[in-house]
Amino acid sequence: MLTEELQEAASQYLMHTYDRLPLSIIRGRGCHVYDAEGREYLDCIGGIAVNVLGHCHPDLVYVIQQQARLLIHTSNLFYTEPQVELARLLVEHSFADKVFFCNSGAEANEAAIKLARRYAYERYGPTRFEIVTMYNSFHGRTLATLSATGQPKLQEGFGPLLPGFRQVPLNDITALEAAITDQTAAVMIEPIQAEGGMYVAEKQYLHQVRQLCDQRDILLIFDEVQTGMGRTGTLFAYEHFDVAPDIMTLAKGLGGGVPIGACLAIDRVAEVFRPGTHASTFGGNPLACAAAIEVFRLLFEGKELEASLSKGRYLTKGLDSLKEQYAVITERRGIGLLQGIEVLMDARAIVTDCLARRIIVHSTKGNVLRLSPPFVITLSEIDRALNVLSDILAKHVSAR
Ligand SMILES: *Cc1c(COP(=O)(O)O)cnc(C)c1O
Repeated sequence: MLTEELQEAASQYLMHTYDRLPLSIIRGRGCHVYDAEGREYLDCIGGIAVNVLGHCHPDLVYVIQQQARLLIHTSNLFYTEPQVELARLLVEHSFADKVFFCNSGAEANEAAIKLARRYAYERYGPTRFEIVTMYNSFHGRTLATLSATGQPKLQEGFGPLLPGFRQVPLNDITALEAAITDQTAAVMIEPIQAEGGMYVAEKQYLHQVRQLCDQRDILLIFDEVQTGMGRTGTLFAYEHFDVAPDIMTLAKGLGGGVPIGACLAIDRVAEVFRPGTHASTFGGNPLACAAAIEVFRLLFEGKELEASLSKGRYLTKGLDSLKEQYAVITERRGIGLLQGIEVLMDARAIVTDCLARRIIVHSTKGNVLRLSPPFVITLSEIDRALNVLSDILAKHVSAR
């Protein structure tokens, strides 16, 4: 089907929850995707920070094929080796002691919210259930995670929301202190608010939050659904800040494109999840776990984590020099291969122009251009994206 035909069929059969770009992708390889007309595009979004190894990495494809031949799903009534092995890898490479698997970021955050509530319930009784989150945060679209999300416009029309959430501004320790009460069970933070426009938490702030939580036995939850799995150049973003949480959630990059989510925690917290308290039919299935194990292998043995770090620095430098060149860019924000540039114009116009030049970027908040390319992007591909961006910015500046 050609793009126009597919667009028409989509509008007939799909609920209109996305404003899609006018491009239908039929295959991908590395940092490139191809449309029905055979045109090649440089993908600087990577499935919204999901395709860390690019598209159809041959080693990942091979592992998925082999695992599909062996065993795809059994339920969690049985032991399967890939699930235990993936949990071991996550534990050995993080602050955490235990892992619960699910299928998405929202589900991972649901698990984190339930875990924090249950921990507080068992220690302090039923009145301690509140979770403080940040304005401008994004934690998912299910009702609990939407209630946690600090963006009223996403919540509109879906009330009543789940009680027990309150928001404070990021990087404001005084506001957090004032919001904490005897009812507070946890504080939930994204180290980088990516969906919210790429606002980075300050190191000193996170240290103060950690201290505050420790003093009151309040759990610290990091939502690393987007920042985890090497996206910022370290395996997890919290490593940049030298602050470890008690609970961390992962999803996007974890399976390299195969849906999987995870909720990690320290033992003292994890032990309140006992048989019957939480579950997932598909969570931790052998197919998804085998894929995630291969992602791990390629990050370390395949040196893709180092690649993320060095390419992230290169991209950062390139974007900073664009900012120096064009006053229309007010700020560059982000770490590593998770970047946003705020512009004094409609960022969607830049996205459209980039697409015409066969570069895929994305916008958020109307005025922030987002880049989250696969770690396999080359330096010359980064240059190409930066050159196209430069051309487009120059055009818009001179048109003003
Ligand atoms: C994408 C995202 C989610 C939601 O993940 P889904 O898989 O879409 O449910 C939650 N938190 C953060 C920080 C995200 O970036």
